[in-house]
Amino acid sequence: MAAREYNRKRLFMGRLAYGDDLLNSLTAFVKEKGIRTGRVQMIGAVQKAVVGFYDSETYKYINVEFEKHMEVLNLTGNVSIKDGQPFIHAHVTLGDEKGQSFGGHLMEGTIVFAAEFIVEEFEGEDLIRKPDKTTKLTLWEI
Ligand code: ZN
Repeated sequence: MAAREYNRKRLFMGRLAYGDDLLNSLTAFVKEKGIRTGRVQMIGAVQKAVVGFYDSETYKYINVEFEKHMEVLNLTGNVSIKDGQPFIHAHVTLGDEKGQSFGGHLMEGTIVFAAEFIVEEFEGEDLIRKPDKTTKLTLWEI
């Protein structure tokens, strides 16, 4: 186990526009505000969604696509540095018309219907993602 301590800095609440790519728009927002470390939350709905499932045998993401309107019951994510740039790692839980839920690692191609987000900036040392030999993911080097 390893962790770093951060202080809370700025807090933003906002909306994304209809038709925005959820992941790309949140990433653009944190870059525009100069946020390098923090966390992201969002609720709302999407017109379609793409989520990933990491296959631990092939070490690749399997994309799961939902070509329909879904509620975003929850999006939780963090902001850290990957390849020198602020990077959002987020997971989403999506709900359908029957109240069933699905989810995974948020991928590009998830299109906003309506989105209310909260982004919190932390103050402290950059948290940098590096390739991890065991998992073949890019994980925090702490
Ligand atoms: Zn993930």
